[in-house]
Amino acid sequence: MSEAGPRVESNTHTDETIKSFQQLRLRRMLWGFTAQLLTIFIVVALFSYGMLPSWVVGVYLSVTLLASSGFLILLKTNTNLRFKDPSMTAGQILVPLLPSIFVMFFVTDPQARTAFMLTATSGLVFGMFALTRSGMLILSMLIAGAYLLLLVSLTLFAPQRINWQVESVMVFSYFAVLVTISYLTSFIAGMRRKLREQNHRLEQLVIRDPLTELPNRRCLMERLTSEMSRFERRTPEPSSLCISMLDVDHFKRINDMLGHDVGDTVLRRISETLSNALRKSDFVGRFGGEEFVVILPESSLEQAEQSVKRLQDAVAALEIPELPNGQRVTVSQGLTRYYPGERIEQTLKRADEALYRAKAAGRNCIIVVDPDDEDPFLN
Ligand code: GH3
Ligand code: MG
Ligand code: MG
Repeated sequence: MSEAGPRVESNTHTDETIKSFQQLRLRRMLWGFTAQLLTIFIVVALFSYGMLPSWVVGVYLSVTLLASSGFLILLKTNTNLRFKDPSMTAGQILVPLLPSIFVMFFVTDPQARTAFMLTATSGLVFGMFALTRSGMLILSMLIAGAYLLLLVSLTLFAPQRINWQVESVMVFSYFAVLVTISYLTSFIAGMRRKLREQNHRLEQLVIRDPLTELPNRRCLMERLTSEMSRFERRTPEPSSLCISMLDVDHFKRINDMLGHDVGDTVLRRISETLSNALRKSDFVGRFGGEEFVVILPESSLEQAEQSVKRLQDAVAALEIPELPNGQRVTVSQGLTRYYPGERIEQTLKRADEALYRAKAAGRNCIIVVDPDDEDPFLN
């Protein structure tokens, strides 16, 4: 049973999901660049008013351009996926601050520094929705530290550009704003965590069958469709996608003789066994009632037959204490291969017909139907 969880979730990290996450990150990055344009505008305005030397503007623009291209390259080469936070949120907030602090040192009028403090704060607000409580606290402390460093440098090297009376009020109010933002972030981080947990629970409700905890029919059909399109994309490379329809033998008798509760227990134990006996790349879901569907991608019919035979044996070997006199349960299976171009319902129908024949052949067996020759043989 424990295996069933990761198997469903691994489906959420397909190439397409990674691609759509990367696109979202790119969009966010472009928004960040747009915000940086505002700071560039301020720098250019200060230069045109004679408050900044041209070389400082040059250094500012070059460093900003270099940093932005750096982030863009990291994203475009998918290097960011190796980072702990692939969105590079802290980096994207902190790095643009460095050239800003540099400019703040050279601005001749102390009042003009306020503009940069405001833009740095708006950058920090972005982090509220992406960073953890402690991440945000560290970031605020780094910003405050960088600002203090600026003030120390000004006092030491350019005391004529600092008015400590005004500055002390500014530092106090700026730090108060940073503390407020960090405090609010802790609320938002808590809310985000709760929302994530709730989403996960809802997702599980939608994709899992409550009795067996296996993927339900809806999830199964989605998986089938995605495996089918993955298969179609791979052609002409030779590969094969196999599907087995599995049904518990004489299950009604268990219900009738021992009650519905024992029936439920048997279904749960069978599901657990199927789930544990499968390869990681394979997938099992509850199709309905006491029927299950096994999907075996990248398997030839022969390989798939070996895999489903393992399921067959694992169920037959299953000891269920609720059943009297050590009675065992068995399953019958109809195994087939997806025929390129056909609808998934056609594959399922062929598997179901094979299952029907397995029942007719005496149960506890597998009937394999190759769509190429439609020449079933009894296993
Ligand atoms: P066969 O070997 O031909 O498959 O015989 P069978 O008795 O397994 O097949 P049949 O389709 O006649 O009976 C299936 C039974 O499964 C009928 C239904 O009440 C029972 N069933 C379906 N879903 C559940 C469930 O969730 N819990 C329990 N306890 N029984 C279920
Ligand atoms: Mg049955
Ligand atoms: Mg049935």
